[in-house]
Amino acid sequence: MPPTAPIPPSWPIPKFDLRVEDLGHEGASIFFDVINPIAALREAVTASFKWLYTPETAPTKYVLPMILLVLKPMEGVAHTFGTQSHKEIHFSLDHIVNSKNRAREEIIGVLVHEVVHCYQYDALETCPGGLIEGIADFVRLHEGLEPPHWKRVHTGEWDAGYQTTAYFLDWIEIRYGEGTIRELNGWMKERKYHRRVFKELTGRPVRKLWKIYCAQLAAAEVPGKPAFKAVVDGETEHGGHLVGEDLDNTTVEGDTRLLVGEDSDNPSVDENSESEGEGDNWLVIDDEQPDL
Ligand SMILES: [Zn+2]
Repeated sequence: MPPTAPIPPSWPIPKFDLRVEDLGHEGASIFFDVINPIAALREAVTASFKWLYTPETAPTKYVLPMILLVLKPMEGVAHTFGTQSHKEIHFSLDHIVNSKNRAREEIIGVLVHEVVHCYQYDALETCPGGLIEGIADFVRLHEGLEPPHWKRVHTGEWDAGYQTTAYFLDWIEIRYGEGTIRELNGWMKERKYHRRVFKELTGRPVRKLWKIYCAQLAAAEVPGKPAFKAVVDGETEHGGHLVGEDLDNTTVEGDTRLLVGEDSDNPSVDENSESEGEGDNWLVIDDEQPDL
């Protein structure tokens, strides 16, 4: 077990509970062979705080007391649900078996992703589902836990979710400075989602950002050009995490029940509704994406 980084005293680490619904399952054996549950869960919570907050902005009004991890045979990968005072992460034992060649990395990567769902702001439940998933995978990416099949894509929509959005957010973080995605999360604390958050943070509309990003990636595919190192609008870019083989054509099938106020050209979407209080509704965030 590598030494873990010291946890800033202000990070409110919750208690953890663990339930295994089939201890005789091969996935359970693999899990306990490669994972120290308390260390892995602490690591996931610490990663979430590190990339979503600073010690000054970490939520203090409400502190999550406990996260329950349930390992069970089920389809898909994992899902997280709960209220502000109770979070449960259900993790597929079958998925653990299916990824046994890289079980430790995969389990911790999925835990990081799911724990982010326990802590990220969701713009009062109006954040597009793709952005919710993208931020979760952004944290996973920044912890160096991206699966080998992940890759940057320059087609489709910026809020397709998962690694597509995560790499786009990573590019924004590189281009506009460390902490930009943290600010994006913070923006969604007490406001309903609006795409102008990207303009406020970067000076550019999100569609323009996506266009620049796609153009850079497309240019990087030209033989002989350096991968993802480009000059745009006179600004020199840093290199990114441009790695990842295209091992499959994974389809994003995340639960989009949070998909409200999707980024579009409709300026009437929830301009700037302020709201007091925090709901206590049960939210379910399914991660059915086959992460193999
Ligand atoms: Zn998710």
